[in-house]
Amino acid sequence: MAANGDGVTDGETLVARAHPKGAGSEPELSEIVRKAVVPAPAPAAPASVPDRALYAPRQKIYPQSVQGTFRRIKWAVLLVTLGIYYLLPFVRWDRGPHAPDQAVLIDFSTRRFYFFFIEIWPQEVYYLTGLLIIAAMTLFLMNAIAGRLWCGYLCPQTVWTDLFQMIERWTEGDHREHLRRDRQGWTLERVGRAAAKHFLWLMVAWWTGGAWVLYFADAPTLVKDLATFQAPYIAYAWIGILTFTTYALAGHMREQVCLYMCPWPRIQASLIDEYALNVTYRYERGEPRGSVKKSAALRARGEPAGDCVDCLQCVNVCPTGVDIRDGTSLGCIQCGLCIDACDTIMAKIGRPTRLIAYDTDLNIRRRQAGKGPVFRLVRARTVLYAAIIAMVGGLMLYALATRHAEGLAIIHDRNPIFVRLSDGATRNGYAVRLLNKSLAPRRFLLTTGGLADGFIEVVGDTTSPMGYPRVEIGPDQTREIRVLITSYEHLPPAASIPLTFSAIDMETRQQATASDFFKGP
Ligand code: SF4
Ligand code: SF4
Repeated sequence: MAANGDGVTDGETLVARAHPKGAGSEPELSEIVRKAVVPAPAPAAPASVPDRALYAPRQKIYPQSVQGTFRRIKWAVLLVTLGIYYLLPFVRWDRGPHAPDQAVLIDFSTRRFYFFFIEIWPQEVYYLTGLLIIAAMTLFLMNAIAGRLWCGYLCPQTVWTDLFQMIERWTEGDHREHLRRDRQGWTLERVGRAAAKHFLWLMVAWWTGGAWVLYFADAPTLVKDLATFQAPYIAYAWIGILTFTTYALAGHMREQVCLYMCPWPRIQASLIDEYALNVTYRYERGEPRGSVKKSAALRARGEPAGDCVDCLQCVNVCPTGVDIRDGTSLGCIQCGLCIDACDTIMAKIGRPTRLIAYDTDLNIRRRQAGKGPVFRLVRARTVLYAAIIAMVGGLMLYALATRHAEGLAIIHDRNPIFVRLSDGATRNGYAVRLLNKSLAPRRFLLTTGGLADGFIEVVGDTTSPMGYPRVEIGPDQTREIRVLITSYEHLPPAASIPLTFSAIDMETRQQATASDFFKGP
């Protein structure tokens, strides 16, 4: 409150002006005015809002080893997928003397993709589109049948993380041992074990990067060049990038990739329906959970007791640290390892296995209502996904089976569109590209139809001065030639006459055709 020149506050001045001495009850009025001018107490500060972290702090996971059906399936998938990835570049496929003999090769120098007996040219990128559609629909179909089959068994992140965890258990011990060592702090032994683990991780990561570059060049030659430091710099760079990403993603980030980086769990959650099988805790059987003794006592008294003995084995083996008993979640990659862990416990305590199993919430509710479970493999969405896969796959197979080994592409000269010759004839020029997709050299006869007295010639060709020009193309190559067509016809003004170009194989008579126009003055 400000003070005036008399040394009184504004509130006091106001009281004095409104109520000169002797007029009315001064103390009463003074109180009213004081209340009016004294600022109201500041509103109470809002209760402090706790900071909410966008990401939960990471809890280090020490997944325990486990034996059982799903573990064996995962080992088998790991062996097959990694075996394919590491060894496929060394598989040979004889395509004759004019093409590489590597079964799977992405050859940037010739812009070809070789996959066993299939060879894809850049113009045929629609095959890649078809493959992507089939891959997406297969993912959707797997999801509709049994949830995150891809995530739990086939995803590279899962497979490599599994491999890295196996190395971690070799070097630093299983769940309890590793946990105990970490709690004891750094000792010489722990340093040695950690060093061995990181060395092995880096070796696997390095070989993963090394295998990747082998898909882009002749594998045996590139291995030799890499070993003698004669390979291109880009090969070393890619090996470095893949080594780092494999080491970081599978060694250090692990379940964080699934939780925070990968979009598929979110998409998958929106595609699931009530009939899709998921790794499910059968809570109607497991609850109320309790120790073996407590449950036995409850049963003896005829009171309800669940089969879950709260041993936490399902949590200990989980590679993402999820407690499946809390229900399905984004963190659960549906690997099935908790099924194996729980089955082992159930077998030990003499209770039926599959307390955790591939099941649906719908079936749990039906069992609770005294009804039998339902498993509907054939539903609208599974039929639709399968139909799309079959249709796109069928179209691709048809396109491959009827694929032409020759091609022809025409580009008309833009400037000038036509030329008038001194003898009155009209001439048009074209850039013609001939494709020979076969692995043998070929000779083509180039013809044109549409003009009554048109004359076709290839610029620079002296081998066929009269008649139709002959063009030779090497195996698995394209050749661009410049073609002139001259007409002595009397053309109507601004004529545009449709033309058909044909390239006819002189041996097999197979031909490729393309359309364009002959422009007049
Ligand atoms: S909860 Fe079970 S199925 Fe899900 S990720 Fe963990 S171990 Fe795998
Ligand atoms: S492993 Fe089975 S019994 Fe043990 S806590 Fe998990 S669900 Fe319960």
